[in-house]
Amino acid sequence: MTNPTPLRVAIIGAGMSGILAAIKLREAGFTEVRIFEKAVRLGGTWRDNTYPGLTCDVPSQHYCYSFELNAEWSRLFSPGAEILAYLESVATKHAVTGLMQFGKELVKATFRDHEWHLEFADGTKAIADVVIAATGVLHHPVLPEIAGREAFAGAAFHTARWDPNVDLNGKRVGIIGSGSTAIQLVPAIVDQVSALTLFQRTAQWVLPLPNPPFTEEQKTHFRQHPDTMSHAYQQWLDRIRTTIARAVIGDREQLEKIAVACWDNLTNSVPDPTLRAKLTPDYQVACKRLIMSETFYAAIQRPNAHVETTPIERIEPRGIRLTDGQLQELDVLIYATGFDAHRFVRPVDVVGSAGLRLEDAWQAAPKTHRSLSIPGFPNFFMLIGPNSPIGNFSLIMVAELQLAYLLQLLAPLRDGTCRAIEPTPEACAAFNREIRDAMKDTVWVSGCRSWYLDKNGQPILWPWTLERFQHEMSAPNLNEYAFLN
Ligand code: NAP
Repeated sequence: MTNPTPLRVAIIGAGMSGILAAIKLREAGFTEVRIFEKAVRLGGTWRDNTYPGLTCDVPSQHYCYSFELNAEWSRLFSPGAEILAYLESVATKHAVTGLMQFGKELVKATFRDHEWHLEFADGTKAIADVVIAATGVLHHPVLPEIAGREAFAGAAFHTARWDPNVDLNGKRVGIIGSGSTAIQLVPAIVDQVSALTLFQRTAQWVLPLPNPPFTEEQKTHFRQHPDTMSHAYQQWLDRIRTTIARAVIGDREQLEKIAVACWDNLTNSVPDPTLRAKLTPDYQVACKRLIMSETFYAAIQRPNAHVETTPIERIEPRGIRLTDGQLQELDVLIYATGFDAHRFVRPVDVVGSAGLRLEDAWQAAPKTHRSLSIPGFPNFFMLIGPNSPIGNFSLIMVAELQLAYLLQLLAPLRDGTCRAIEPTPEACAAFNREIRDAMKDTVWVSGCRSWYLDKNGQPILWPWTLERFQHEMSAPNLNEYAFLN
């Protein structure tokens, strides 16, 4: 059967996965594709984050589209600005920038009469048959609930809202938080500031990974022999797949190897027993997202750097008051306090069939069928949704696998066999039961606080191997879906 009218697809978000969706949909022959982006530029997380020291801790030769390998990466782990430029070049090359509408913040999406009615913050509207929420995971910055935040007299900002007009030279700078972001930021600014205080609530395990530049000879070799880039792409995937990705889901031997590497890194790098004690975590390695850095320990031992572990009482105009009464005076306060990773497409008010609101459907926790779709929300799909293999894999690869699955799922809609598709509640419940049961074997529930965990203590990650994910994404089981007319 052939559907005479082309399917209208609205992609929400022009980040890595939105760009990918547009490219693959166009390649598959979809002609009515639009990308709605709230910002004025594409790039998602790589547009929003511009803090000094930002790199991706997945090797660049793997953190890229499998169909757009890049010989020009400057380093093993390339800086954020380079990744943004790469995304821009790929979008331009594949002619999808013209599909993007900027300044279009989706505020409401309602499924009515087999169509999605989209409403934007600027008052405009649009209609689509299919919505793909490519809205990312780490895009709602969280400011800490600390009394007096508004009182601080100096410049203060979240790392994802970096203010380039604030000159850090010679300033007393405080950083709240000790996650991946803070650990990258400290070495990047420590030599510039007069004093750096890291307000650390929880110590982190740090795996030392060098970040060598690619030489001109290497780049020439990659350009002349593209197969070496494919080889490197696969090699990095295999390395991640067989080490950290196994360790976190129950491979004790792998976990132990990582624990030893982190412990050796700490003991070999930090001779002072007092500082070492402060920097020693009291939970299992990889319970929180593992941090990769070869430069943090050296940076935090510079004479002008200080780790403050006394809890924060409040923020005052002149600095941070600790619970022991001491005031740490600061000129600039930087919040490296992370993101709300559990909002996904929200705060968009998504209203499915029969008036079901996503906010209500997800009241207990965000739940999807195979990370992509939700019962009661026909023709609404997510990329990098809840329980995707986030963590240490390349999310570009994850999105590619999800998109290949999604394209197959869209086939009956496209050929007119049906007008709407949604997962059955039974299939979704069974998937989530299996997920919940499997989480028991993971390191993420071994006793630590992390952004992986929802308010019920359930991780939002994939508890199985990459091979299983690849298999599940290779073809949808159509018995898990309802096809509506
Ligand atoms: P994060 O890992 O969530 O870390 C937030 C930090 O802020 C934690 O140390 C947390 O302490 C602290 N914090 C939060 N509220 C606080 C409060 N009220 N008082 C004191 N401390 C508080 O956030 P992130 O560092 O931005 O990293 C988030 C994720 O982004 C990473 O895990 C990673 O997936 C991604 N990322 C990746 C890279 C990379 O590729 N290299 C770089 C940056 C970010 P607790 O630990 O005690 O909660």
